[in-house]
Amino acid sequence: MNDCIFCKIIKGEIPSLKIYEDDKVLAFKDINPEAPVHFLVIPKIHIESANYLDENNMAIVSHIFKVIQKLTKELNISEEGYRIVNNCGENGGQTVKHLHFHVLGGRDMKWPPG
Ligand code: AMP
Ligand code: ZN
Repeated sequence: MNDCIFCKIIKGEIPSLKIYEDDKVLAFKDINPEAPVHFLVIPKIHIESANYLDENNMAIVSHIFKVIQKLTKELNISEEGYRIVNNCGENGGQTVKHLHFHVLGGRDMKWPPG
């Protein structure tokens, strides 16, 4: 997608603080962190939101969760816990229309979210 900022980050057209990359996904620090640890994991293919997952692209979600498990261990928040968030659509609070999973940690999380 030409005007998608996360596609631009993948292509290196917008800088980011990358913490992990492979052929399928990219993880980078959120520009506006809401917790001491706050990074995003995104597929390298443009998927607009969770609404657009189907049997052809769904395997990426499994891979993303595997990457989250690896990174939270490396960042030492695995044992104490963390939160994985996917905002979907207008009411879900999704501002960037490229599927992404927030990982937040390093502090006690409140429930329910606002
Ligand atoms: P959401 O509201 O779930 O769509 O989340 C989008 C997230 O992307 C927000 O937490 C933003 O702070 C983050 N974000 C937007 N632009 C950038 C960027 N250039 N680099 C890193 N994070 C970004
Ligand atoms: Zn995109």
